[in-house]
Amino acid sequence: MKSITLKEPGQFERSTCHDPGTPGPGEARILIDKVGICGTDLHAFRGRQPFFEYPRILGHELGVVVEAVGEGVEGLEPGDRCAVEPYLNCKTCVACRAGKTNCCTHLRVLGVHIDGGMRESILVPAEKLHTSKSLSTAQLALVETLGIGAHAVDRAQLQRDEKVLVVGAGPIGLSLLQFARVASADIALLELNPVRGQFAKDQIGIERVMSDLDTAVEEVEAWTDGDLPTAVFDATGNPQSMESAFGYVANGGRLTLVGLIQGDITFKDPEFHRREITLLASRNSRSEDFKRIISLIELGDVDTQPWITHRAGYGDFVESFSGWLEPEAGVVKAMLELGETA
Ligand SMILES: [Zn+2]
Ligand SMILES: [Zn+2]
Repeated sequence: MKSITLKEPGQFERSTCHDPGTPGPGEARILIDKVGICGTDLHAFRGRQPFFEYPRILGHELGVVVEAVGEGVEGLEPGDRCAVEPYLNCKTCVACRAGKTNCCTHLRVLGVHIDGGMRESILVPAEKLHTSKSLSTAQLALVETLGIGAHAVDRAQLQRDEKVLVVGAGPIGLSLLQFARVASADIALLELNPVRGQFAKDQIGIERVMSDLDTAVEEVEAWTDGDLPTAVFDATGNPQSMESAFGYVANGGRLTLVGLIQGDITFKDPEFHRREITLLASRNSRSEDFKRIISLIELGDVDTQPWITHRAGYGDFVESFSGWLEPEAGVVKAMLELGETA
């Protein structure tokens, strides 16, 4: 079967892999139609993903079609279009027992810790498939990315009309903005890149976009009458930005770190205590997020139209990928199109 393998940092290769065979009990065999590309894939390509093993078949943002189901699988039939929840959890660890499947102690993510979806067909646990009658496989491939923002907004328990600052408008920040809007929060965005700031304005309807770090604190103070926002999200994955984010949080407010770095961040404890800040991490998402996002897209409350800016097929993916790394390419979401399905 056709596949694309990341052989080593910097080297994708058109390859072949073995047929996954017939699905066992509780499994489904799926045809991979669309694969979204994200920062995790770029880090793996650049060799900056720690503990990452090569060669690896990437692909964790998947829009798929069911080919066959194994014994005991209900509610799924061949031909069904699905999003794939790529977080394979152990079901027995302390996090799983608490329903926190997104941060399972032994979590294996398809396309990260084990081979993913850049190939024709794979077997997955049927319970990790979330189907929709009306969404396209391209829309379904966006659900995983949107889940990052949905889960983070959920972690922060945003209230209607609450003043919220989102720092960073890459794909994670955009998905945060989308769900902060769904929560009817009063949103400001701090994004230094004018192209990204404009995208958030035009496509997600964010009116308050700040782009100057020197004046950001004053602007945020003016907007909140000196209170500061009660919820702040950092989606930059930049250590300086994550450390500065503490300074934007209101007394009694909460800071959610969504982007992550491979190092330490520090903060001033007296300020942290004085404000009694609640500090939250947000990782991945859960089954209920996938289901909710699919219904929000179906209802038109989340618009996926602006997201996909770049596409390539099996034949031209390897060549296209390096171009997508350039900031000038303006990639929001690039998509590998493996199949022919709508
Ligand atoms: Zn991703
Ligand atoms: Zn677990």
